[in-house]
Amino acid sequence: MPTADGTGPAAAHPVAESAEDFARAVAAVRERIARAAAEAGRRPEDVRLLPVSKTVPEERIRLAVRAGCGFLGENKVQEARRKAENLADLDGLRWSVIGHLQTNKAGHVARFASEFQALDSLRVAEALDRRLQALGRSLDVFVQVNTSGEESKFGLAPDEAAAFIHRLPDYSSLNVRGLMTLAVFSADTERVRACFAGLRTLRDRLRQDAPDGIGLDGLSMGMSGDFELAVREGATVVRVGQAIFGPRPVPDGHYWPGLAPATTTTTTTTTTTTESEPDR
Ligand SMILES: *Cc1c(COP(=O)(O)O)cnc(C)c1O
Repeated sequence: MPTADGTGPAAAHPVAESAEDFARAVAAVRERIARAAAEAGRRPEDVRLLPVSKTVPEERIRLAVRAGCGFLGENKVQEARRKAENLADLDGLRWSVIGHLQTNKAGHVARFASEFQALDSLRVAEALDRRLQALGRSLDVFVQVNTSGEESKFGLAPDEAAAFIHRLPDYSSLNVRGLMTLAVFSADTERVRACFAGLRTLRDRLRQDAPDGIGLDGLSMGMSGDFELAVREGATVVRVGQAIFGPRPVPDGHYWPGLAPATTTTTTTTTTTTESEPDR
């Protein structure tokens, strides 16, 4: 998608190389969030920017942390865990796991993460809760919903969400904060917008009879290519990687199911453009 401020493709995802570069990149994203929020009559402080540092090496993450990024999103548990361990000297740095979780890795998430945004099964809720209880910890969670209807996407079908949410009070160490989605991978803005609006509508409906203690205010939606649209549709968390850290060297098929695996040239070459995300 073209950037709102008219910067060209090369300028859109510059590679930050210093703490100052990161501060600038984050400020630019925040400014775009603020503008989108204003357009929708929303307050910018009601939108949290979650920088997504997947594939970014630890030395560069240190620069981003120095520039004020204190809460980082990672898609894969093993990568997140390694980074959490190697960056444990950075006081107060927190981690959000935003990708699909297998039950056998729940113990790791319970140990190092502050937030998990991809909850989509009771088995995972159970596994996390058991580990968290043992550690005396709790975890903020978002329930992932598949708003695009694509088979390749993780997440609950929207019509499964109500029953699912009514089971979550059983897992008392999980603090349910809201819903999360990945929009359809499409250049068609209206189809992307429909995913975001669908998540908001679902949230509004679920909130009417949510069980006690289940918070459904949060809407985690929007990434580098579509976060302004998401903010206009009510996002309270945007997950932004490339617009802060620069293009990813690793094709996104590695992180998202259903995308063409790794090797296609389209995937790698489009990472340097703004017109489309590498996967769209
Ligand atoms: C990588 C990732 C993002 C960020 O994507 P960008 O295009 O780098 O902004 C957001 N959400 C999830 C689940 C991701 O895996």
